[in-house]
Amino acid sequence: MFRHLSNKLIVILFGLLLMLSLAFIGFAVWSTPMFLQELNQKLNLTLAQNIVKEKNLLSNHKVNRQALQSVFMGLMVVNPLIEVYLVDNTGKLLAYSAPAGAIKRDRINLAPVKSFLTGNRHLPILGNDPRDAKRDKVFSAAAIRDSNGNLQGYLYVVLGGQAYDSVVDMLQSSYMLRLWIGAIVVSLLIAGLAGFVLFRHLTRRVQTLALGMEQFKQSDFQHSIQLPARFDGRPGDEIDQLGVTFREMSERIIQQVKQLQHSDTSRRELVANVSHDLRTPLASLQGYLETLALKAEQLSEEEKQRYINIAYQHSERLRKLISELFELSTLENQDARLHFEPFSMSELIQDVSQKFQLHAQEKNLVLTTHIPAQPAFVSADIGLIQRVLENLIENAIKYTPAGGQIGISLVHGNNGVATSISDTGQGIPESDLPHIFERFYRVDKHRDEDGTGLGLAIAKRIIQLHNSSIDVASRPDSGTTFSFRLPSADLTQQHA
Ligand code: ADP
Repeated sequence: MFRHLSNKLIVILFGLLLMLSLAFIGFAVWSTPMFLQELNQKLNLTLAQNIVKEKNLLSNHKVNRQALQSVFMGLMVVNPLIEVYLVDNTGKLLAYSAPAGAIKRDRINLAPVKSFLTGNRHLPILGNDPRDAKRDKVFSAAAIRDSNGNLQGYLYVVLGGQAYDSVVDMLQSSYMLRLWIGAIVVSLLIAGLAGFVLFRHLTRRVQTLALGMEQFKQSDFQHSIQLPARFDGRPGDEIDQLGVTFREMSERIIQQVKQLQHSDTSRRELVANVSHDLRTPLASLQGYLETLALKAEQLSEEEKQRYINIAYQHSERLRKLISELFELSTLENQDARLHFEPFSMSELIQDVSQKFQLHAQEKNLVLTTHIPAQPAFVSADIGLIQRVLENLIENAIKYTPAGGQIGISLVHGNNGVATSISDTGQGIPESDLPHIFERFYRVDKHRDEDGTGLGLAIAKRIIQLHNSSIDVASRPDSGTTFSFRLPSADLTQQHA
C-alpha cells in the first residue's frame, strides 16, 4: 500500500489533520469550562455589589439576620445554585444560606476576593467554596462598609454552575461542543477526500514518469522513452520539467551507449588490424634474420646482402607503421595540442612539391603546381599541414602509373584557401571511396604495395582538428582529386 507516493501523501495528510483536530478538540474541552466560568462571573459581576447597596447586612459587626434572610430567599428563587456568605474582614464565615451541615470550611481565603474587588483582573477568578474543601469556584463579592467607610466584612456569593466530572460528561451535556466535534469530523472527511483526489491527480504524472524510467531500464537503455504530450517541453511545473529533462537525458544516454558500442567495436578492429599488420613484417624480418644466422656459411656474400636488405625493409616498414600509429593516436587524443600560426600556404606547397620533384621524375611523372602570384596566408599548424600535403602527394605518386601527371593547385577565395592534389592515376572504385579515410583501409588491389593504410586517416584527422574537412573525388582509370580548405589568416590583426 505504501509503495505508492499518493497513498503515503494521503496517510500523512490524514495524520496531520487528525492531529490538528485532536489538538483542537482537546483545546475546546480544556477551554470550555473556563469560558463558561468567565461568562458566569462576568454576568454576575455586580451581583454582590447590588445586594450590598440595597440591604444593610452588617452594622457594628453585627449580622442583620432579617435583611440577610430576605436576600437568601430572593436569590434562592432566581438561581438555586447560588450560595450567599457573609464573612468578616478576616475571611471568617459569619452567616450563610446553605444548611449548616453542608459547610466544610469556616473561613475563606480573601486574596481572590480582594483581587476581584480591585477591578484590575482577568476573569475567571476562582475563590474557595465553603461547601467543598477541595474545589474552588467563581464568585461575586462586595465589601460592606459602615457609614464612616470602615470595612465591616464582605458579601461573598459563590456562583455555582454545572461542574463536569469527566470529558464524556461534558460532551454529553454540551450541545455546542458536540456540534463542534461533528463539524471537525465532517471537515476531516472532506479534506481527506479532496486530498485523495488531488494527490492521485498529482502523482499520476510521477507514476507515468516512473513507468517510463522503468521501461527505459528494461530496454537496456536502448529505446528512448515515450512520454505523454504533457511532457512536450513547454514550461510547466517541476514534474513536467523533470519529464523533459529525463527524456533528454535518456536520449543522451542512448547516444552515448551507441558511441561506446561503436568505439568498442572499432577498438577491437584496431587491435586485430594492428596485430595483423605488425605480425606480417615481423615474421618476414624474423625469417630472414634466422636464415642469415643459421645458414650464414652456405650463403654467398650477395645473398647475405640481399637478405640483410630485405630484413631492413621489413624493419623500416615496422618502424613506419608504429610511428604512424603513434602519430594517429596522439592526434585522436581529446587534448591534441595544435600550434596555430599564420603562414603562406603558397610557399608551403612550393616547398613540399620541390621535395617530391625528384621522386616523381624517377617514376616518370610530371608534378606541377598551380598557385596564384598573390601569396595566400592561412592560420593553421604548419607542421601538420605539411604532413597532410606529403601524405597526399606521396599517394598520388604511388598510385599513378608512369607517364601520368600530378597537379597541386591553390585557390584563395572568400571561404578561405582551398588546396587540391589531383592525379591521372588508376582512381579509386566507387565502393571503396566511403572507406578510404578509415584506419588500415586499403583498396584491394593495393594491398601488396608498400603502404600502411594510415596515411589518409592521419590526413583526415589533421584537417578535422582545423575544423574543416577533406574531400575526395575519383574516377577509376582516370584519376583522383583530394581537396581541403583552411581559414585565411587575418594578417591585419596579427600585425596590429
Ligand atoms: P596507404 O599507406 O595504403 O597509401 P592511405 O591511407 O594513404 O594508405 O590510403 C588508403 C588507400 O586509399 C590506399 O591504400 C589506396 O588504395 C587508396 N588511395 C589513396 N590515395 C590514392 C590515390 N591518389 N589514387 C588511388 N588510390 C588511392
